[in-house]
Amino acid sequence: MKIKFCGAAGGIVTGSSILIETKDKKILVDCGLFQGSREEEARNREPFLFEPKEVDFVLLTHAHLDHIGRLPQLVKAGFSGKIFATPPTADFTRIILEDSVRVLEEKARREGILPVFAQNEVDHVMKHFETVEHNETKKLSNDLSFKFQDAGHILGSAVIEIESEGKKLVFSGDLGNGAMPLTPLPAVLNEADFVFLESTYGDRNHEAISESRGIIENVVEDIVVQKGVLMIPSFALERTQQIIYHLNDLAERHKIPSLPVFVDSPLANAATEIYRRYPKYWSAEAKEKKSRGDDIFAFSGLRFTNSSKESKEINKVESPKIIIAGSGMSQGGRILHHEMKYLSDKNNILLLVTYQAPGTLGRRLAEGEKTVEILDQEIEVAARVEKISGYSSHADQRFLMDWIKNFQKGVCSKDKDRAGCLKKVFVVHGEEKSSQTLASLIRDEVGLDSQTPKIGEEINL
Ligand SMILES: [Zn+2]
Repeated sequence: MKIKFCGAAGGIVTGSSILIETKDKKILVDCGLFQGSREEEARNREPFLFEPKEVDFVLLTHAHLDHIGRLPQLVKAGFSGKIFATPPTADFTRIILEDSVRVLEEKARREGILPVFAQNEVDHVMKHFETVEHNETKKLSNDLSFKFQDAGHILGSAVIEIESEGKKLVFSGDLGNGAMPLTPLPAVLNEADFVFLESTYGDRNHEAISESRGIIENVVEDIVVQKGVLMIPSFALERTQQIIYHLNDLAERHKIPSLPVFVDSPLANAATEIYRRYPKYWSAEAKEKKSRGDDIFAFSGLRFTNSSKESKEINKVESPKIIIAGSGMSQGGRILHHEMKYLSDKNNILLLVTYQAPGTLGRRLAEGEKTVEILDQEIEVAARVEKISGYSSHADQRFLMDWIKNFQKGVCSKDKDRAGCLKKVFVVHGEEKSSQTLASLIRDEVGLDSQTPKIGEEINL
């Protein structure tokens, strides 16, 4: 069996893609877009590191763009097999790819190049999907099968277990943090010969979610007293639903007064509809609320705005009010219009709930800059800026280490040489320092062989 790392490896966090070559089949785990720096994005215009026509199956861990964004190019380049994903992942793939068409077209126009893919190519991709539920073993040939188990990262996300040639391979995909109230805990696995582990937070730990939730409650109380506007830039998928879930909880328990809350993002609203469609994939806590008749995505004052007319009308609503909109790092989207209007008032609050990458407007605001440029206008920042870090949909170092240690509790505890006892961990999907730190911790603390492969590297297992 041969493995080829085709993205999100060697210090690069995006473009997730690993090719597995068995005696008679080629399987691709994820087919993500490279995002971020110019050099990284240039990789999207290079040919794939394998022949797309020869790939038999694609298995998807989840529907973030850095795991699915090159599917249109794959199909265009001749891939004709099946794409397997959980039902929520399949539904999210369509809305995420469709939303990206618009963004990528705009970007390509600015740079004077052709967009990476177009709408009709998204339609072609969707014809290849076949959905598979969590915990269902799917046989692909006499000597090849796979199983999705909950990764607890976003709704329907999966850890993938592949069995072939007497070996078991486990791909963590992006692993959840185990503390998000709406998302189930990541599945505990204890059998694998080789694990391919993400390392986004391989060198850090998160603030406790309880602390973040306390801050949210405080800023909502303050905004009511100050009669101001609370702006929350948020990712459309998962983060927004987690925030709504928490606000719903506070509202239902009368911890906060009733006030207008706008989710001003067509993509977030479409994603929320998909969450509603699949209660089966929610956490036990969320399911229990539903069984008691609590609609977790509805409370007094909550409104979802879609058209730009509806978005503009938010301005006319008297404060206090809350506006949740994308993008999460204020790099575009409707949040910019609200920030332009409201950042210069000291009674308003900007709450940052996601990671802010260097170079983004969100990062400048997080660092306390007092004057920023938004859509070519200079804006004074008088509003209070608050940050929380507990709302991460990624496992932190502590959680990743505990998750790996589980593999020593299976057949390993009886016989280290047996099939199914973990022999090696390939650390991927992290910045250089994160991946290296995690890999050496796995060697030192768990005593396991670990490696941080580079993009393009091939390994025989
Ligand atoms: Zn992800």
